[in-house]
Amino acid sequence: MDRIDLHCHTTCSDGTDSPKELVRKAKALGLRAVAITDHDTFRGHMEGMLAGMEYGVEFVPGVELSSMYMGEHIHLLAYYADEHSRRLKELMDRAVYERAHRNKKMVQRLHDAGYPIDMDIIRERFPGQTMIGRPHISEVLLEKGYVNSVREGVVTLMGRDAPFYVPRYHVPLLDYIRAVREAGGVPVIAHLYQYRMTDEQRREMIREAADAGLLGLEGMYSTYDKDQQETVFAFAKEFGLICTGGSDYHGEGKPGIHLGTGMGDLKVPYALLEGLREAAKKR
Ligand SMILES: [Zn+2]
Ligand SMILES: [Zn+2]
Repeated sequence: MDRIDLHCHTTCSDGTDSPKELVRKAKALGLRAVAITDHDTFRGHMEGMLAGMEYGVEFVPGVELSSMYMGEHIHLLAYYADEHSRRLKELMDRAVYERAHRNKKMVQRLHDAGYPIDMDIIRERFPGQTMIGRPHISEVLLEKGYVNSVREGVVTLMGRDAPFYVPRYHVPLLDYIRAVREAGGVPVIAHLYQYRMTDEQRREMIREAADAGLLGLEGMYSTYDKDQQETVFAFAKEFGLICTGGSDYHGEGKPGIHLGTGMGDLKVPYALLEGLREAAKKR
């Protein structure tokens, strides 16, 4: 078997498998390598690395960073970055602080308007969860009977034009790219087709990002169609970037997305990891 998965989440962010369980499943599926790319945290790496040695699966340390570019939320994958790098740590700490601060504000406003919730209730409902946000708040409101679905709560109460919406600061994409490079990591823009942009805007973003030190694009992804995949590979070629690939597996959190195979026919070859490791040598 020569397949890999370079985009996976664990219980350290919003996935439902522990790092060890993820690596065990990767082995059972015959994957040769697996990356842990939790949101804004390196917490799963030690357990993942040890599991990799135990099960004989190559472990790739990664992280998925939430950033902002021209008003759009862009996810930046970073592989092999030194988690002790000061600049990167500062930006990631800021992101975590901003998320917590925003949740607190939204929950307070809901509370003041008569919804019987507070942050303690939310935290108790999702123990250990570091990626708490609007869906979690909405889930609690759903369980208490105040909305009919998680989506309804997110959109009608906390959506962009809704009464309890609180905007959130995001680290600018180019700042994160520079910090990841400074930390010796490989910055890769994730799932290029999940952003509301035209291909022309995508090209412009990639051009600017490449100038700032971007090294790769996520070339294979669960929800890309054939044309999209080809376009991402063409962008990579145009700007001298590598391509990575992964499912964005979250376990039960995204039931339709399977480890390794995505929605069924994802096949990420080991060769992409070789390219990624080569890029990691660029300093
Ligand atoms: Zn993402
Ligand atoms: Zn992801």
